[in-house]
Amino acid sequence: MTELHVHLDGSLRPESVREMAEEQHILLEADPLHPETLAGMLTVPADCRDLNQYLACFDLPLQVLQTPEYVSRAVKELIQDMAAEGVMQAEIRFAPQLHGAKGYGQKEITEGAVRGLREGTALCPGFRGGLILCCMRGSDNQKANEETLQTASAFLGGGVCAVDLAGAEALYPTSGYEALFALARKAGLPFTIHAGEADGAKSVWDALRFGAERIGHGVRSVDDPALCRYLADHRIPLEVCYTSNLQTKAMGAEPHPIRKLFDMGIHVTVNTDNRTVSHTTMTEERRLLQKDFGFTEKELAVMEEYAREGCFI
Ligand SMILES: [Zn+2]
Repeated sequence: MTELHVHLDGSLRPESVREMAEEQHILLEADPLHPETLAGMLTVPADCRDLNQYLACFDLPLQVLQTPEYVSRAVKELIQDMAAEGVMQAEIRFAPQLHGAKGYGQKEITEGAVRGLREGTALCPGFRGGLILCCMRGSDNQKANEETLQTASAFLGGGVCAVDLAGAEALYPTSGYEALFALARKAGLPFTIHAGEADGAKSVWDALRFGAERIGHGVRSVDDPALCRYLADHRIPLEVCYTSNLQTKAMGAEPHPIRKLFDMGIHVTVNTDNRTVSHTTMTEERRLLQKDFGFTEKELAVMEEYAREGCFI
């Protein structure tokens, strides 16, 4: 299996978070080491209310991942977890600018991740992986985003394979990041953009106009027939994360459009988004797609082919 869209901080082993927190004297809560409490902090409940409740599950993971060593360990373990279920090709993403609370620069954090990638790959023969560095939507981080692009350039082909834009799409529309992605293009960095998840089809159009080669989620594209035709004609992969979309209520009261998008010939791919936060795996996502939409093994194989074609690595 091939996975294009998985966030490092949302995919940590709970037992590792506990260890990392203990080692760094991070107090979890009143009963900090109780495993059930910890699971509740890292994984959304079955009746997850909205995106805010979803995002709260990243607080603790980010708190423990503030050194190159811990980032390295997390990448290594994630690769082991993926390989264990047969995901032998994957692109792992994280935002180096969110790991600087202890003073480490984006370059040092990325070095840690590259080391983890190398170690994890060495432990899992046949595994191929790359890192996607996320720029963040926000109001006062233009410099940090530009530093992310510089960092990605420095490691491109040496562990890093692309950049991304993540964060609150509805609050900070994609249209505001034209200059940033002009820089990415100038630097020769391939990129995907989270778009059409919390915001509409226009967000996807903007991402495509900037030169995005893939779209993170993109499920809202279904509202715009012209956009759907464009995505299909240009073989733009959508990194669809079904469970995550249900939990964050990305489609509101509307049914999830994955079947419709696939039947229109759009290159839909299967992804977890966040293994721990969403409490899922690639195996589980494929099972749910079979159960909820009647996707056949043959159709899942087509999606796997789309993912292979869409790889940046
Ligand atoms: Zn994502």
